[in-house]
Amino acid sequence: MKTAVINIGCKVNQCECDSLMTGLIALGHEVSDELVFADNYVINTCAVTKEAERKSRQVIGKVKKINPKADVYVIGCASEKNAEQFEIKGVRYVSGTAKKEAVLRMLSGVHVEPIPNEYESLPVGTNFRARAYVKVEDGCNNFCSYCVIPYLRGRCRSRALDDVISECLSAAETTDEIVLTGINLSAYGLDLGTNLAELLSRLSDLPARIRLGSLEANVIDEAFISALVSAGNVCPHFHLSLQSGSNEVLKAMNRHYTAEEFAEKVALLRTYFPTAAFTTDVIVGFPTETEETFEETMRFVREIGFSNVHVFPYSRRAGTAAFPLGSLPDEVVSDRVKRLSALRDELKREYESAFITSELEVVVESTDGVYQEGYSENYIRVYIPDRDYPTGKKIKVTIEGERADGLVAR
Ligand code: SF4
Repeated sequence: MKTAVINIGCKVNQCECDSLMTGLIALGHEVSDELVFADNYVINTCAVTKEAERKSRQVIGKVKKINPKADVYVIGCASEKNAEQFEIKGVRYVSGTAKKEAVLRMLSGVHVEPIPNEYESLPVGTNFRARAYVKVEDGCNNFCSYCVIPYLRGRCRSRALDDVISECLSAAETTDEIVLTGINLSAYGLDLGTNLAELLSRLSDLPARIRLGSLEANVIDEAFISALVSAGNVCPHFHLSLQSGSNEVLKAMNRHYTAEEFAEKVALLRTYFPTAAFTTDVIVGFPTETEETFEETMRFVREIGFSNVHVFPYSRRAGTAAFPLGSLPDEVVSDRVKRLSALRDELKREYESAFITSELEVVVESTDGVYQEGYSENYIRVYIPDRDYPTGKKIKVTIEGERADGLVAR
């Protein structure tokens, strides 16, 4: 029996898919995470934007084309939000963000379990990739005004420190890079009387480097930075969610910082990690965003000098506080997306080219037969002439040039 487990969403979804694949292997299934011919498909859906939700439905059409007789199991945020949209011929089971292991029991019928109050453990996932994603937290208490996730994933709940450490230790046997991930990673441990800094201290002996998933600026303070510095194995790459560079828009988004405070956090990190990469997410076209406040965001993004920006056109989500505000015209949003994306490309190039002639440590991921590629500690995609370096292992390289989507090493 072959089962394909397809992730439409974030890294947390990916960790869950890995756990389910591991459980399926234990049940004797052959598994794949690609859109290949299979007897069953498990689709872990995403609702973070309308586009993600549309893709989640679309992939069902795709798998039914590959094998019209297959059974499809739908789980995740989009089905938590609206299970009925997945009542499609061939879909055997629809659930939400809870009790995903029910898929392993191959239940049938449309049923959404209540969202749990406590961290729900799935079987520890096998690492199917060069870098290992370890989920440490679920849910979010922030209620940003545009975001539907707290309604679908529930409140913050953290995985026990010892469980995280034991999964990291076993992942470190197969990879030199572990990515800690959570819906609100910055809130890790607060419900358990610990915090992210404590987790990093406990992981300081790990024989692998640690990359932090998306962080909220508010988590950055002297105590947190001192944990990063003394751990010594955390990648100098910080993904700090900005969303807007305008204080007016940040307030309307219910984000709890100002642009000035965000800039102070970046400056503080740069005193300890001077060449670190700062990446971010920006929502373009929030309903109260004007041309002036968008320009403020553009200026702010340039001032910080992000090495990459995920540019998201605003997606209006029913049930959120911002929903009644409506949407800006599509052409205004797409024009702003274009302008911010052009700035993103310029800043990315600027940041990356500064590393030509430097040494970087790359965890090798894949090859096209000519070049092996992977990410450096500061999250630059690096291409290395293929010498059969082992996947998942770190190698030190000297950068000698650049190409459209990264750097080239010798
Ligand atoms: S921090 Fe904001 S954007 Fe992120 S999941 Fe929580 S509510 Fe959504």
